Amino acid sequence: MHLLRLGPPGAERPYVRADDGTVHDASGLTPDFTGAFLATGGIDRVRDALRAGDLPAIDATGLRVGPPVARPGAVICIGQNYAAHAAESGAQPPAEPIIFFKHPNTVVGPYDEVAVPPGATKVDWEVELAVVIGRRARYLDPADDALAYVAGYTISNDVSEREFQVDRSGGQWSKGKSCETFNPLGPALVPADEVADVQRLGLRSWVNGEPRQDSNTSDMIFSVAHLVRHLSQFLVLDPGDVVNTGTPQGVALSGRFPYLAPGDEMEFEIDGLGRQRQVLVKAAGSL
Ligand code: ZN
Repeated sequence: MHLLRLGPPGAERPYVRADDGTVHDASGLTPDFTGAFLATGGIDRVRDALRAGDLPAIDATGLRVGPPVARPGAVICIGQNYAAHAAESGAQPPAEPIIFFKHPNTVVGPYDEVAVPPGATKVDWEVELAVVIGRRARYLDPADDALAYVAGYTISNDVSEREFQVDRSGGQWSKGKSCETFNPLGPALVPADEVADVQRLGLRSWVNGEPRQDSNTSDMIFSVAHLVRHLSQFLVLDPGDVVNTGTPQGVALSGRFPYLAPGDEMEFEIDGLGRQRQVLVKAAGSL
């Protein structure tokens, strides 16, 4: 079962795709897939209603796919969580997780266009496993089951502008991470209990059909459970918040590949979570 939000930007409605591929309207249960929905057992309610045949099937042909959760309160990112990517970035593997933020308004649908900002020359791709928080998490201790605070998983593209990030951001990275459309998310929220082992998922990216990244979440320096517990020591994770867990090697920052330009196409895939695809365009209003 995959949770989907379909419809125009800002007016998406909640749907569920059953294991047989049929798409069903979930708006009789909830107006949207929000943090409150996730925190109150919403995924179980959808699953029960789907099994009971209470959710009407629809023809989803032609409907835009939006991000699979309503606008998050926070998008928290982990830097350099794969050793080979740290190395290609010219850094040592971190001793503890590096945290940075993206503006939540960067989140767009998995097939939406990504806009190259005015003056940008170093737009880069980053395929990442995204964690969607399902329960309020604060000061978890080592005995807590940190994964019990995760509602589900999806695919994230942590789009980055490396000059803004590295040369113009004053030692932290947010200027290069928060441009309009810089976080395609989706296509689906896959419930955590339907992912057998989140630390054993292949993740891959392509640019214009050519392979770029090809790695596995088993190569993360800090596991999802570690990250959730660690983050909760420094901030409160709220239901619906998104954590981008870091990208593996194979980005343009390495110097091995050209940066992105309008007309280029990015494609991402994570085992069991689906695929996403975006085309780069010039930001509206820019020269
Ligand atoms: Zn990233």
